[in-house]
Amino acid sequence: MSPPIVEARSIVKTYDTGAVRVEALRGVELTLERGEMAAIMGPSGCGKTTLLNCLSGLDAVDEGEVVIDGTSLSEMSDRERTDYRARHMGFVFQFYNLMPVLSAVENVELPLLIARESAGAARRRALEALDLVGLADRASHVPDELSGGERQRVTIARSLVNDPAIVWADEPTGDLDSENAQDIVELMRELNLSRGLSFLIVTHDIAVGRQTDRIVRMLDGTVVEEQRLEVPHVLASHAA
Ligand code: ADP
Ligand code: MG
Repeated sequence: MSPPIVEARSIVKTYDTGAVRVEALRGVELTLERGEMAAIMGPSGCGKTTLLNCLSGLDAVDEGEVVIDGTSLSEMSDRERTDYRARHMGFVFQFYNLMPVLSAVENVELPLLIARESAGAARRRALEALDLVGLADRASHVPDELSGGERQRVTIARSLVNDPAIVWADEPTGDLDSENAQDIVELMRELNLSRGLSFLIVTHDIAVGRQTDRIVRMLDGTVVEEQRLEVPHVLASHAA
């Protein structure tokens, strides 16, 4: 059996800015199985973003251990961690983080060019990723020429382009109306089922949370409740 894609053991993270000390994570335990799609929910300031950043290695933990696909992040050098992120992880943020002067396809291929992929291969893979999210016909548009929902599709295409094992999404529908939010969740679920891609999604939106495999509720820097959900049978038959 393959190891869980993510295992967090007793994660503690404290921000100390001199004047104030914030215990953002106070001993978080969390396991995400390969191919699972889970939501992290909880009030503003409870530590969701901090947890995502610690699990993805964007931020270092103070205590505890993060194991990704059997490898402890703390055993990697900074360079190895950066490299691991670039090769095996995808990121989706609320406000897209797209480069405004670059077209959709240029935004999507950027991670590959940074990872020194050849220009031709990067372009081909970026176009494939845009096709997967239904935006092949918008490849040459810059973000300003796209709707919010289309922009989020571009960031999802960008998150997929390195063929990651896991995608981290921090409030991916936070800037969208409910209809576009629904399209984005459905797209993530499709990618989850068709490619076995694991998703960890921070969300305020219970409509989004309800469509995942499990809702993890946080409060004051700890996990207080986990709720397993039935995969809607429409999707379950899709997976079979
Ligand atoms: P959430 O994403 O659930 O809204 P965060 O993880 O962003 O919560 O924040 C958790 C707590 O840590 C909050 O009290 C927040 O103010 C604090 N915090 C987050 N980032 C920093 C930082 N860089 N420096 C100091 N405090 C921070
Ligand atoms: Mg947050």
